[in-house]
Amino acid sequence: MNTSIQIGRIMGIPIKLHITFLLILPVFAYFFSVNPAPFGFNDVTLPITRYALSLSAAISLFICVLLHELGHSYVAKRHGTKIQNITLFLFGGVSSMEEIPRDPKIEFKMALAGPSVSLLIGSILIIIYEFFSLDNISTTINNPYMRITWLIGYINIILFAFNLLPAFPMDGGRVLRAWLAGRMSYIKATRTAAGIGKMFAIFMGIFGLFAGLWFILIAFFIYIGASEEEKSTEITVVLEGVKIKDIMSRNVTPVTPGMSVEELVDFMFRYKHMGYPVVNDSDVKGIVTFTDVQKVPKEERKNVRISEIMTKDLITLREDDDAVSALKLMTVNNIGRIIITKEKQIVGIVSRTDILRSVQLLE
Ligand code: ZN
Repeated sequence: MNTSIQIGRIMGIPIKLHITFLLILPVFAYFFSVNPAPFGFNDVTLPITRYALSLSAAISLFICVLLHELGHSYVAKRHGTKIQNITLFLFGGVSSMEEIPRDPKIEFKMALAGPSVSLLIGSILIIIYEFFSLDNISTTINNPYMRITWLIGYINIILFAFNLLPAFPMDGGRVLRAWLAGRMSYIKATRTAAGIGKMFAIFMGIFGLFAGLWFILIAFFIYIGASEEEKSTEITVVLEGVKIKDIMSRNVTPVTPGMSVEELVDFMFRYKHMGYPVVNDSDVKGIVTFTDVQKVPKEERKNVRISEIMTKDLITLREDDDAVSALKLMTVNNIGRIIITKEKQIVGIVSRTDILRSVQLLE
């Protein structure tokens, strides 16, 4: 299912809105409309003005998040990293990059670029506000148009500070790792930075027990982010230089599209694999897995052919491709195995288990 819609391009990067973003935008607008000053507009009597201001505040906020992401992307692009897209989610923005540079100096600059944009926007808006309120500070915040300037400025400063927390998946975690990586190996730097992030999350969670649910939620989000960063870096570093041909299974037993699902089940019992390429006259037609079989009720397995249940749009790789690229393709497409071809002939099959087992062995 496609869960994001593209709204345009900036610097050649597709900008997408995730479905969760479309849900959260009215929620933010609602909060702004019921909150009192200075964090909302509930004192604005005319409903249409109140809602227009609240919605403008919510949209401005997300534009600022987008500008923050563009800050990261701009530096990444300048160093030759390809940006696939920027997606706005429930909790902010994410830039998907092809390969995050593992040069600490570049990562350092890249991680700082986003918070710098937030700081810049925040400072400019607060200065504008201060400038207009020089004469009568107490009454300026009562002007809703001035208040929106102050509010967006204030939130940008919070965004700046929050993102610099020294914990993955925040930018501060990357800054910390980049700094550490100048002093130790990349993987050790990642482990240390992730460890600090987890500790931070635990303290924040304990603090949240007294201070409120929001802190516990954020702590949870930081903990998961830190663990994932650690795991994915470990896998990428360990698999560096490993080719698919080094880890794939070569004894592939193909099945034919005309076989019944019942025959396929027997086949699976005999060969103990969970997925098989479907081949007709040495042409690869698709792939069939145990998950496909499970969708067919037992009593119908005799009458259903493999061609009816197999996955037809095949994702294949070549044996000289990197093992990491196989794992990435599996994650992006949510599949468990990829067929490896050489001059259109199947030479092997690589599964997620094959890759993870090699990671364990190589460590
Ligand atoms: Zn950022």
